[in-house]
Amino acid sequence: KVTPVFSRAVAYGEKVAIIDQSGHHSYNSLYNSSRSLAGHISQVLACQSGDLQGRCISFLCGNDASYTVAQWATWMCGGIAVPLYRKHPPAELEYIISDSESSLLLAAQPHADTLEPLARKLGLPCLKLPPTSSLDSLQAAESPTQSSEALSGWAERPAMLIYTSGTTGRPKGVLHMHSSLQAMVQCLVSEWAWSRDDVILHTLPLHHVHGIVNKLLCPLWVGATCIMLPEFNPQKVWERLLSSKAPMVTVFMAVPTVYSKLIQHYEQHFTQPRVQDFIRAVCKERIRLMVSGSAALPQPVLERWKEITGHVLLERYGMTEIGMALSNPLNGPRIPGAVGTPLPGVEVRIVMTNTTSTTIAEGNSKVTQVKPGLEGREGELMVRGPSVFQKYWNKPQETEDSFTKDGWFKTGDTAVYKDGVYWIMGRTSVDIIKSGGYKISALDVERHLLAHPGITDVAVIGARDATWGQKVVAVVQLQKGKTLTLPELKAWAREHMAPYTIPTGLIVVEEMPRNQMGKVNKKDLLRQFFPSARS
Ligand code: ATP
Ligand code: MG
Repeated sequence: KVTPVFSRAVAYGEKVAIIDQSGHHSYNSLYNSSRSLAGHISQVLACQSGDLQGRCISFLCGNDASYTVAQWATWMCGGIAVPLYRKHPPAELEYIISDSESSLLLAAQPHADTLEPLARKLGLPCLKLPPTSSLDSLQAAESPTQSSEALSGWAERPAMLIYTSGTTGRPKGVLHMHSSLQAMVQCLVSEWAWSRDDVILHTLPLHHVHGIVNKLLCPLWVGATCIMLPEFNPQKVWERLLSSKAPMVTVFMAVPTVYSKLIQHYEQHFTQPRVQDFIRAVCKERIRLMVSGSAALPQPVLERWKEITGHVLLERYGMTEIGMALSNPLNGPRIPGAVGTPLPGVEVRIVMTNTTSTTIAEGNSKVTQVKPGLEGREGELMVRGPSVFQKYWNKPQETEDSFTKDGWFKTGDTAVYKDGVYWIMGRTSVDIIKSGGYKISALDVERHLLAHPGITDVAVIGARDATWGQKVVAVVQLQKGKTLTLPELKAWAREHMAPYTIPTGLIVVEEMPRNQMGKVNKKDLLRQFFPSARS
């Protein structure tokens, strides 16, 4: 049976759901505030609860309880929740609000100044939420609508429009139904053994699946507690992870760059062996799970994190369109660089996307079968299952193009099945470099280059080349005070890498341009460094 997460809140009563800068928020208080807000929304839009079917409400909230209240209230009205991000420039906000054809804007107090001018420009009503510390001052609107619990048919109701990260183009609105959201949540809750005793520390933006589903909806589904920091700050995260103040953190999830920044902070500030022993003991003792995802986890980060905390990060692979699909196990060996096996309910395929469309491997959570003779061959990863999205908003052609005739979603990522697990080789469009007849995985080259002692971050791109078709170019960030020339890099690489994968171009940058989710936009890098040669 499909029900939205708020319908479970009543059962958790006075248990603390969210702790943010303004204090503790119980499940009851979130639920009641959401109901009141839903009443106001119904009044503004002159509709009955549930009538909003298929219409969008965009909301701009900080990383705090107001986000959940805006999301639940939208659902109680039967609307589609569209989360905006406070760091989006106004043009980006306007794009999402217009693209989603939102009927109403909701603004948490500090963001009203940003949204109100846009609301006026677009001719939309904008509701201002009370400060997060007094969300319960929201009084129910006069005309109480029918109880949202009485609404049925949640499986067929659209729930959220989540915009992709925009790594390969303009962000696309991905429509998820309540059923696909619930499938994502239930799958992770069972696989990663969420319980109401869990306490998660939340520091990621709330407009992508990672922050929305993995770190917020999962804990709220089971009645756990989510501690929300207004934004990522390495010192604050370390403080909270190590704090003995109840409730103590049991689960942490982040993107790879967050772990890198936590490591940097550790190296700078926690130099005493006594402090280091304390950190390791506390992390080992209290935290049961630490997860990385949204971008490839560099092995040096995984290894250093293990030395510091005693935890082998659990790496998983997911997308806005499908939620989480592949994951290393909660219990059992986690293989560095690999993303494990399909989660329950998820079916995957690796398909050769040349003329033959041959399936190289096909698997589910129990077993993967490989076509004899094609072991270890790479192809496009395709996914099927209940967590797959319904459509790209207002993009029927893109939606159609992204599915095969028999209903498999084409991820646009290249993968390999080897040694009993799946490996992501990168995005088919930018990470698979065709050079002199070879197909080279940029992610694979990056994995090797990260072992170079002077390189702290790297993005490998394929630049157009008259002779080779494309050439492998390494954009690197070096350790402070270090230098590196191309001949030096090549000499080192000859000892560690297959000859045809060795970079023939080197660009040293001060800082790798990674976005909030730890991703590098390689099309931007190409445009920046090779403006004339589109590859
Ligand atoms: P857009 O679709 O707008 O270009 P995006 O694909 O970056 O942006 P998301 O849906 O947030 O937007 O990200 C999904 C992508 O992130 C995947 O397709 C994959 O390329 C990458 N990814 C996620 N987890 C991993 C991982 N563990 N290893 C490597 N890549 C990953
Ligand atoms: Mg994508």
